[in-house]
Amino acid sequence: MTLGELKSASESFQNTNKLPILFVGHGNPMNALYDNSFTRSLHTLGTQIKNDFKINAVLVVSAHWLTDGTFVNIHKKPEIIYDFSGFPDELYQVKYPVIGSPEFATETAKLNSSIVTSNDWGIDHGSWTILKHLFPLADIPVFQLSIDYYKPLQYHFDLAAQLKSLREKGVLIIGSGNIVHNLRLSFQTIRTHGEEYALDWAIEFDEWIKKKIDSRDFKSIIDFETSGEMGKLSVPTVDHYVPMIYSLALSDKSEPVIYTHEEVTFGAMSMRCFRIG
Ligand code: ZN
Repeated sequence: MTLGELKSASESFQNTNKLPILFVGHGNPMNALYDNSFTRSLHTLGTQIKNDFKINAVLVVSAHWLTDGTFVNIHKKPEIIYDFSGFPDELYQVKYPVIGSPEFATETAKLNSSIVTSNDWGIDHGSWTILKHLFPLADIPVFQLSIDYYKPLQYHFDLAAQLKSLREKGVLIIGSGNIVHNLRLSFQTIRTHGEEYALDWAIEFDEWIKKKIDSRDFKSIIDFETSGEMGKLSVPTVDHYVPMIYSLALSDKSEPVIYTHEEVTFGAMSMRCFRIG
C-alpha cells in the first residue's frame, strides 16, 4: 500500500460517520433555563459531536412519552410540549423551533414491525430541555420514539439493538431519563437537607450502575432489582430508567464509554450522562 492509499484508507475510516450514542440524565426541567455544570457539559458535548460528525437527525427516547405499544413520531413540524405543571412562567416561554424527520422516523419503523408511526406527539421536555443546550440553534431535525410502558426491560433492550443501523445513517440517538429518579423522596429530602444533598443509597446505586456499564454487564442492569434495597429506592418506577437501556443496547462492545457528567443531587436524582462511541 502506498502512502497515498494509506492516507485515503485512513480518511475513509474516519469518515464512516457512525454516530455516538448518548444517555442524558435530564432531571429538573428548569435546567432548560440554567447555566450550570450540567448544562455546560451538554453544550460542550453537542459542540464536539457536531464538529466531528454529520448529524442528519436526532432521535430521542424520552422518559416522558409512555405508551401502550411503541410509536415513532413522523410529524414534519413537531410542537414543543410543556408537559409539566407548577413551574415559573418563563419555562413556558422557552421555544425550540425544530423540524421533525418523517424520513428517518419512517426508516425507524421499518426496522421493527412493532414500531408504529404516529402524529400524536411533539417534542416533550425530556427532549427540548436538553436539546436547548446540546444544539441551541435547533438546526437539526428531531423525532421521538415512545416507550411501551407495558413491556419488560428486556423487550426494550432487544428492540433498541435492532435500531443500530440508524447510527450509520447519521442519526444521533439519545436516551433521556435518569438512572436514579425517586421524586417523592427527592422532594422530602430537599425540604430537610436542601437541593445539593444526595442520599447514600442513591450515590451507591448510581456508582453500581457505572461499574456494570464499565464491565458491560447489561444483564445486571436489566435485572437491577437483584441489587436489593438501593435499586428499589432508586427505580421506584422504570419510566426514567428505560431510556438508558436503549442507549446501552445500541452500543458495540469495543466502543469506549465516556461519562460526560456525574452528579447525584436533589436527594435522589442521578444526573449521570454518558457518551458511547
Ligand atoms: Zn423527567
